[in-house]
Amino acid sequence: MAQYSSNTGNENWQTATSLVHCGTIRSQFGEMSEAIFLTSGYAYDSAEQAEARFKGDTEGFVYSRYSNPTVAMFEQRMCALEGAEAARGTATGMAAVTATLLSFLKAGDHVVAGRVLFGSILYVMENILPRLGIETTLVDGKDLDAWRAAIRPNTKACFLETPTNPSLELVDVKGVCEIAREASALSIIDNVFATPILQKPLQLGADIVIYSATKHIDGQGRCLGGIVLSSQEFIEETLHDFFKHTGPSMSPFNAWVMLKGLETLPLRVAHSSASAARVADFLAERPEVARVMYPGRADHPQHELAKRQMASGGPLVAFEIKGGKAAAFRFMNGLEIFKITNNLGDSKSLVTHPATTTHQRLGPEGRAQIGITDGMLRLSIGLEDPIDLLADIDQALALAG
Ligand SMILES: *Cc1c(COP(=O)(O)O)cnc(C)c1O
Repeated sequence: MAQYSSNTGNENWQTATSLVHCGTIRSQFGEMSEAIFLTSGYAYDSAEQAEARFKGDTEGFVYSRYSNPTVAMFEQRMCALEGAEAARGTATGMAAVTATLLSFLKAGDHVVAGRVLFGSILYVMENILPRLGIETTLVDGKDLDAWRAAIRPNTKACFLETPTNPSLELVDVKGVCEIAREASALSIIDNVFATPILQKPLQLGADIVIYSATKHIDGQGRCLGGIVLSSQEFIEETLHDFFKHTGPSMSPFNAWVMLKGLETLPLRVAHSSASAARVADFLAERPEVARVMYPGRADHPQHELAKRQMASGGPLVAFEIKGGKAAAFRFMNGLEIFKITNNLGDSKSLVTHPATTTHQRLGPEGRAQIGITDGMLRLSIGLEDPIDLLADIDQALALAG
């Protein structure tokens, strides 16, 4: 007999409805806002109940390293959003990435990944996996033939992120997932930049979807968190034991912040994406700007692919300012509303200079290989009124030019 019941929603519900109601576990007090179950352990009614729960004969919580009611609410609400059978919330996005990979890879296996990766994921691919005897090949993610050519008999996973950070290039999710399936490898998509609202990797054929919930899912820059979503089979039979015994677990407090974040996610992503499209169009008209990279614009080299796999251009904009690093720094220092940071997905609009921060470690050749120039800037568009954001960019460009 189940120890609790959660709102499993209705398959006819639209996304916004699911994100307000799905996953809610209401206690005997009938609280309206979901409770924060800030507890590490659980008391059993009897020795027999403890025995049964450890044997797995009865459902219920055992220890918050494995599962917790507030974390379970977040996981179930994310499953409803993603169309996934099961999920595990994690302490950070990187915990989600490493737990996923290490839960099934072993020495002698091989992984293919798109070359443009979030910095720490690149470190895992280039340093940590090879140290464990797991070989990795990084390919030009845009080129499906390069993915195909990199497959070997021992390839066990294809990993990609799209749009990529910071250049907002796209990878054909459906194409790579098909190549992975033919090779009997798992396809793993880091869907942070597109957000779970605008791109649905499981519908495009992916086996596993990963988020850093730190970004748009929280959406207000408060907590770290992550999540892995997949089939019941992968989560329960492959990920679970690794997860349970190594402990990349999510804190119940952070899970609650993310859970409440999901209630407003569609509104926030729609607002930020609409503003981002206006910012991209505004930048494209400016003489100080050499190039705008935004998947929602017709001049993006992969705009057709964007229309196939994304519902809109998304909340991030990249552009190249004329005059290199000096002009980029003058622009950043001149901004009043945008904050200078390496983070993204906040309610506050943010600006990042990848060459000197997130991608500094790559060195000039490494950056050149993936198209990161000294004049490239990445904007994460927040929830301010776009009129004020355009005015801020306008005055900062005047200072930079
Ligand atoms: C931030 C981020 C991560 C890592 O997430 P953390 O929560 O910071 O550990 C992974 N992938 C992408 C694309 C990210 O933006």
